[in-house]
Amino acid sequence: MKSRIVLLGPPASGKGTQADRIASAFGVPHVSTGALLRSECARGTSLGREADEWTRKGLLVPDELAVRIVTTWMQSNGPRFLFDGFPRTVGQAENLDASLVAMKAPLDLVVLLEVPEDEIRRRILDRLSCMKCGATYAAALHGHAVGDPCPRCGSPLVRRNDDTEETLAQRLDVYRRMTLPVVAYYRENSPGILHRIDASGESDAIFAELSRLMNS
Ligand code: AMP
Repeated sequence: MKSRIVLLGPPASGKGTQADRIASAFGVPHVSTGALLRSECARGTSLGREADEWTRKGLLVPDELAVRIVTTWMQSNGPRFLFDGFPRTVGQAENLDASLVAMKAPLDLVVLLEVPEDEIRRRILDRLSCMKCGATYAAALHGHAVGDPCPRCGSPLVRRNDDTEETLAQRLDVYRRMTLPVVAYYRENSPGILHRIDASGESDAIFAELSRLMNS
């Protein structure tokens, strides 16, 4: 079974939802750098305040900050993880590889979730999130509104401050320029571990495909 996994994909490609499902089914810790940064921000730490300057504009936080938060996590939890939203730049991917080489624990699976941009737009503009447990909901589909209790943990649902029309354009541009090159990086540097899944369809079918890759 795979135990060091990276999930890549544009915003709202279902990385968080699938990572949660894989984490419960396979017992691999789900680590979302976006959620770690939002939690720092909610706690008012200096790292959180610095990160918020970038995230609210739809820009990536500097590599040094993203790497620091992941390194701190690995120091306490060890090299078993399912990263969701990390690495997002080639620099972060190189840094992660260097840390894993030092631990003699290479990555064993990288999955790219692919979703067309018009579907991403539709999902983001309808998305409500729980800042406590990280669950996300399609407001129109599930009949939820801002402030309703999260069906999973009871905390109030919110619209993320970067889930807006203006910020989305920026996030997609950043994804194309900074994160798509990470796919090429893994294709060239880690032959055989990169897989693509069409993530525009049913969550159950995507989960089945991911589970097959986890067991392969
Ligand atoms: P996410 O929850 O994955 O959509 O991330 C939300 C925001 O957090 C992103 O738009 C970035 O501003 C920031 N972020 C999350 N992960 C990273 C990362 N690996 N590198 C840089 N910025 C990140």
